[in-house]
Amino acid sequence: MTDCIFCRIATGEIPAQIVARNDHALAFRDLNPQAPTHLLVIPAIHFDSAATATGAAGQRVLGEVMALGVEVAGSLGLDDAGYRFVMNTGRDGGQSVGHLHLHLLGGRQMHWPPG
Ligand code: 5GP
Ligand code: ZN
Repeated sequence: MTDCIFCRIATGEIPAQIVARNDHALAFRDLNPQAPTHLLVIPAIHFDSAATATGAAGQRVLGEVMALGVEVAGSLGLDDAGYRFVMNTGRDGGQSVGHLHLHLLGGRQMHWPPG
């Protein structure tokens, strides 16, 4: 989708600090970090949100995004201290960019319940 900011990051049209990528997904630094480490992991192809990631293709994309998140967290040395994955979905979930993305937050103590 040409009007989707994360699709444009995936194609390189909009610059981002990309930390890792493979054929299916990429991880880059959030523009407005909420923790010492704050990355976004997105599928290279467009899905509006987790709510539309259904069926075999959706299952595959969710797995690919989560797997890259796990890999990047490990490579950034977050495994021992831990980290948090967040996938805001839709209006009540607080999703502001309409391209499925996983937040990887680490480097500080997280709190519960989230806001
Ligand atoms: P959401 O609120 O949809 O869960 O998360 C969207 C995230 O994307 C926010 O944390 C926001 O800071 C980040 N973001 C929005 N636009 C850009 C951008 O152009 N580049 C990067 N790197 N992050 C962005
Ligand atoms: Zn997109």
